Amino acid sequence: MGDCIFCKIAQKEIPSSAVYEDDRILCFHDLEPQAPVHVLIIPKKHIESLDAVTDEDRDLLGYIMTKVKDIAQELGLENGYRLVNNCGEDGFQTVKHLHFHLLGKRKMTWPPG
Ligand code: C5P
Repeated sequence: MGDCIFCKIAQKEIPSSAVYEDDRILCFHDLEPQAPVHVLIIPKKHIESLDAVTDEDRDLLGYIMTKVKDIAQELGLENGYRLVNNCGEDGFQTVKHLHFHLLGKRKMTWPPG
């Protein structure tokens, strides 16, 4: 937790370009955007991954999901978007703090790489 880069971003020890923030979550632009709009939605609470959530996190997870559409609307993603969570090694999770990628303003393809 002490060395977690997203905790540092959430605590403003490292600057980010935030697009939404409240007491529970932060949304900021990804440093290496993979689409014209690419933001990350993180809980301020340190949770290592989707695989590490507990019953205690149920409200928080539900809260994040209900905020996605508001953030998407704010970013002008009226034509749709993709929400991605990479979990663990096979999921190619590189930052060990739960986050959801919200990508939009281009046509996505399937399957993902
Ligand atoms: O899902 P994954 O863990 O691979 O995603 C981490 C994301 O965090 C990457 O898209 C990376 O560009 C982004 N990142 C960032 N700012 C940092 C470190 C990582 O936007 N300081």
